[in-house]
Amino acid sequence: MDRKDISYILHHMHEEDLPGNAVSPPIFQTSIFCFPSFAEFRDALNDEVNHCLYTRGNNPTVMLAEQKIAALEGAGRAKLVSSGSAAISNAIMAFVKSGDHIVCVENCYSWAEILLTKYLPRFGVTTTFVDGTDTDAIFAAVTDKTKIIYLESPTSFTFKLQDLPAIAKEAKKRNIKTIIDNTWATPIFCNPLSMGIDISLHSATKYLGGNSDILAGVITGSKADIDLIQKQEFMQMGTVPDPFMAWLLIRGMRTLPIRMKAHFEGAMKTAAYLETHSKVESVLYPMLDSFKQIALSRMLFTGGSGLFSFQLKCKKIDQIEKFVNSLMLFKRSVSWGGYESLIFPNAVKYPNPADCPADRIGLVRLHIGLEDPEDLIKDLDDALKYID
Ligand SMILES: *Cc1c(COP(=O)(O)O)cnc(C)c1O
Repeated sequence: MDRKDISYILHHMHEEDLPGNAVSPPIFQTSIFCFPSFAEFRDALNDEVNHCLYTRGNNPTVMLAEQKIAALEGAGRAKLVSSGSAAISNAIMAFVKSGDHIVCVENCYSWAEILLTKYLPRFGVTTTFVDGTDTDAIFAAVTDKTKIIYLESPTSFTFKLQDLPAIAKEAKKRNIKTIIDNTWATPIFCNPLSMGIDISLHSATKYLGGNSDILAGVITGSKADIDLIQKQEFMQMGTVPDPFMAWLLIRGMRTLPIRMKAHFEGAMKTAAYLETHSKVESVLYPMLDSFKQIALSRMLFTGGSGLFSFQLKCKKIDQIEKFVNSLMLFKRSVSWGGYESLIFPNAVKYPNPADCPADRIGLVRLHIGLEDPEDLIKDLDDALKYID
């Protein structure tokens, strides 16, 4: 998609005739919609997916956000939901029933993994996890019960990519739905649907929102698939996006292309700096020349976001702690995709640090926000003095 299309989608599309000539769209803070006649009431009631009847189904502010995201992803339709996790569960559950099987990449988002390993087995749905970098391994795990191949490229701690066009092509032959969590790349840097993937979903809490002030998720795909998800899961589960959240999302997305450019530039500079540092063993950023799957990365992505990991040459928890605590600009937290830079040391996952495997003590994830990269590098440089 070229820049002109993105500008049109984010600043103009479906905003030509706003009430009172307003530049900013209104927030339709309403639970129900009323109809001038019996016939219009009947039409809406009997085809809720295509009408605004009740805000648990559709709402004009929510639809405006959906139309913009669908256009960015090149999708027939998008459905906004209350969180990224709701996007994952709604999309997966729409295509399985008791007895079915899923193939999923290793190290996927934690709550996706919990859904697949703890929740769905209660309903007779099983999952096999495979190394997603190996397309043959994915199809070796496929059985005649496999209904979904679930992807995340890259995985958000280990940064492993999958060959989306090859996987999509093979899956289509076998009538298996392919679903990808495209949160890392955003629709600005990767459009999986154009590579044959069926469903591309996002935690819009991250870059699409971009300001760390909303929780949201979105599912994109063909109109038929998204209509099915709405009728079957979304209306039942009630994972409803509220109109104000949708409005904040629209507002956040106006700056998406310029934010992504800045995240990319900042991440490249910071990753390149870390790569040359004597205390750093390796940097896992898909846009670096040294990245293991760089050829695939260049095929999949037109740019990179602000999230990457690196491995310190350090196995001492107390030093990692000092390093993390002494950072001034990087905040210590989960999540990513906002304006702020964040650090997430892998060792923090263990209530007892001694349980962290030795080779993962030095594993650290960074989110490069919108601060000046030179300031971030200085912050890291000062803190790395605590690692000997
Ligand atoms: C955060 C995240 C999610 C879940 O999104 P929520 O909005 O927090 O529910 C899903 N996938 C990835 C890759 C994420 O980083």
